[in-house]
Amino acid sequence: MDHLPIFLNVKDQRALVVGDGTLAARKADLLIRAGCDLTVIAPAPNQDLLRLLSEDKVTHKTDGLIAADLDGCIVAYGASADTRVNQELYHLASAAGVLVNIADNPDYCDFIMPAIVDRSPLVVAIGSGGTSPLLVRSLKARLETIIPAAYGRLAEFAGSYREKVKEAISNMSRRRRFWETMVEGAVAEHIFSGQEEQAATLMDSLLREAASAGSSTPNGEVYLVGTGPGDPDLLTFRALRLMQQADVVLYDRLIGDGILNLVRRDARRIYVGKKKNNHSVAQQDISEMLVRLAQEGKRVLRLKGGDPFVFGRGGEEIATLADNDVAFQVIPGVTAANGCSTYAGIPLTHRDHAQGYTVITGHEKNGELNIDFKNLLQPRQTTVIYMGLSSLRSIVDGLLLHGADATIPAAIIENGTNENQRVVVGTLANLREKAALAQIQSPALIIIGSVVGLRDKLSWFGEEAFLDDQPELLVASA
Ligand code: SAH
Repeated sequence: MDHLPIFLNVKDQRALVVGDGTLAARKADLLIRAGCDLTVIAPAPNQDLLRLLSEDKVTHKTDGLIAADLDGCIVAYGASADTRVNQELYHLASAAGVLVNIADNPDYCDFIMPAIVDRSPLVVAIGSGGTSPLLVRSLKARLETIIPAAYGRLAEFAGSYREKVKEAISNMSRRRRFWETMVEGAVAEHIFSGQEEQAATLMDSLLREAASAGSSTPNGEVYLVGTGPGDPDLLTFRALRLMQQADVVLYDRLIGDGILNLVRRDARRIYVGKKKNNHSVAQQDISEMLVRLAQEGKRVLRLKGGDPFVFGRGGEEIATLADNDVAFQVIPGVTAANGCSTYAGIPLTHRDHAQGYTVITGHEKNGELNIDFKNLLQPRQTTVIYMGLSSLRSIVDGLLLHGADATIPAAIIENGTNENQRVVVGTLANLREKAALAQIQSPALIIIGSVVGLRDKLSWFGEEAFLDDQPELLVASA
């Protein structure tokens, strides 16, 4: 983030605008709306600006800028047609320690003005750090259409109840939940349809109800959420909703920043993945932590890469929750097999190639693979192997030993669905060598079967550059 987004309280504070034109008028208008005591230096104001100059708290000056104009100012804005005047303003403001913005000149800006969606007192500010005004405008246009005008009224109504709610509900978690029900429920509906009185009556009765529950801890709950293999766009709506209302989040290595950034900002974050010393938090400890946090009344979000029930130990975690009478929800996610294969252009089944697919783990328990090689490679089947990178040699040897065809196409997908996805394609016989050459790292998924050969035609996700750079990694089109 290049800039600090803040909403500045400028009520009754001095501000300065220098310039005669429409740009100056727009900024002056904003500053007036925000309650500033505004001075405008405009020797020849245009129509837009003239209209504003008659406002109560506006002082109009026609003579040149002097240092004293910045006395006591909180912000200054320069939009003069004369660049020398703008530069002068910049230097005077900097010397006086006043935050300054010169229009269309990023080098002379201490702050930038965001685009806004104004539903006062609710205001959405959008900025791109000056990189793409067009993107900002298009986002603003979208937000304008999806944020009802009545949201301003709702915010005002909520504001008028803030103190009352604080007094009536002392427990913070309870209070949060009260507000959540309020902004999503019937009270908000009344406000949206202009029935302020009904809204107030309902609000008062909800408040009495909530107050009678006293300061006791509300019930906690655990959300076991599958996030998919990495691309945040693969989250489900339900996952996103729960991520937005959690009080605390437990996550591990498979959860990237793209997804973590969508969790409620002020939720407490607990990393339970592998530490630097390569020790993970034990599964039992994680399960117990979930129970303890929920019993404290928290809404606990447990994020799981892919799907919680596919090699995710989700079953064990909810068994402990159930044993302890903790309420929970499980939200499925796109599992690595589906996400990675699709993004790599490999259909797991195909009328001409495979009627089904088998999903197994290549994870070794006590140094041993537990794979039924004999039954694994059936004709017209695709095999997907999770956690098989470190045991790849034993897997391939085992398959060949049990009569697998050495020329069968095979692929490894590293960081599937993420921007840094890489795909190595080869055959059962040479896959290990190619993976080593490309220095494939975990997380990686192995797919074996003739469907892999379809990738040339069906691949759409952009990791081609990598393959072009290293043509020896491409499968010979057999
Ligand atoms: N519950 C997860 C799997 C967890 S086991 C799911 O449903 O996908 C972890 C293994 O999943 C990794 O070792 C790797 O084999 C696979 N995996 C998960 N995410 C992946 C990704 N983005 N790219 C490739 N493999 C991935």
